[in-house]
Amino acid sequence: MPRALITGGAGFLGSHLCDRLLREGFEVVVMDNLITGSTDNIAHLIDNPKFRFIHYDVSEYIYLDGAIDFIFHLASPASPVDFTTKPIQILKVNSLGTHKALGLARAKGATFFLASTSEVYGDPLVHPQVEEYLGNVNPVGIRGVYDEAKRFAESITMAYHRFHGVNTKIVRIFNTYGPRMRLSDGRVVPNFVGQALRGEDITVYGDGTQTRSFCYCTDLIDGFYRLATSEQTGPINIGNPTERTMLEFAQNIKDLTESNSKIVFKPLLTPDDPKQRKPDITKAKTLLGWEPKVSLEQGLSETIAYFRGKI
Ligand code: UDP
Repeated sequence: MPRALITGGAGFLGSHLCDRLLREGFEVVVMDNLITGSTDNIAHLIDNPKFRFIHYDVSEYIYLDGAIDFIFHLASPASPVDFTTKPIQILKVNSLGTHKALGLARAKGATFFLASTSEVYGDPLVHPQVEEYLGNVNPVGIRGVYDEAKRFAESITMAYHRFHGVNTKIVRIFNTYGPRMRLSDGRVVPNFVGQALRGEDITVYGDGTQTRSFCYCTDLIDGFYRLATSEQTGPINIGNPTERTMLEFAQNIKDLTESNSKIVFKPLLTPDDPKQRKPDITKAKTLLGWEPKVSLEQGLSETIAYFRGKI
């Protein structure tokens, strides 16, 4: 039975990865310091003898008894709201935490899987974003704490791969949504859905012409699983290429929730908010045989049902 460590396994995506790996017959150990994750996300797994939760900050030295076949390094706050409230933790977990997790992978002979991000492309000047695009990142901007930390995480992952021969994989995650996102997360899906369900104003930041492309969580996790069990090293983009403006998206959510909320405009949270984002997923399709399957309507209806239960 393969054994995996998931850092950040009590988070939104980490907990969905736990579900998938347990279904695939893995034994799963989670380390999470719960600064953005929650035991609610893994409560349904706690009695499973193949599952173990360790409350721990992986920016500190990590040790785990026994064999480990895979280390999935997902630990990191990821909402733009966190970029101002948790900047140092973000920098630490992606630099020190990635170093510790790579060290453990090297010691155990485990495959190391890094959850990187489309933010490595910054405010992209190439559209859609291909993996070869080197990005347009402001190191001293508000988003720099996340973007540069993830860029460092990719560099150190490749250094361990090239210098120490560790089997590594890098996935670049584009906007993802679904059940178990925090309602107070600050990202656009929980904000818009929460506002629409409460009948509050739906807050479009800036002029709403900026675009994003939203992938449903289980599709994304399927991409993770395929990459982790493939021969590929990456980086590989995983995301849904269906792009829309934030103004269109606000209207989509208002329609799906049958809400009477008004759509209002607010200033951008960060001045370097990317103006457009859409993954080129040619590599994921050809190298992993992966593409997203869940439509936005289907995914949002699951997500809306989840948030309804939380309000
Ligand atoms: N956004 C918005 N209203 C909100 C929250 C976010 O218009 O209440 C916009 C935000 O400015 C960005 C996009 O939605 O252009 C996606 O933001 P999110 O925070 O989800 O993540 P990002 O893709 O910027 O990392």
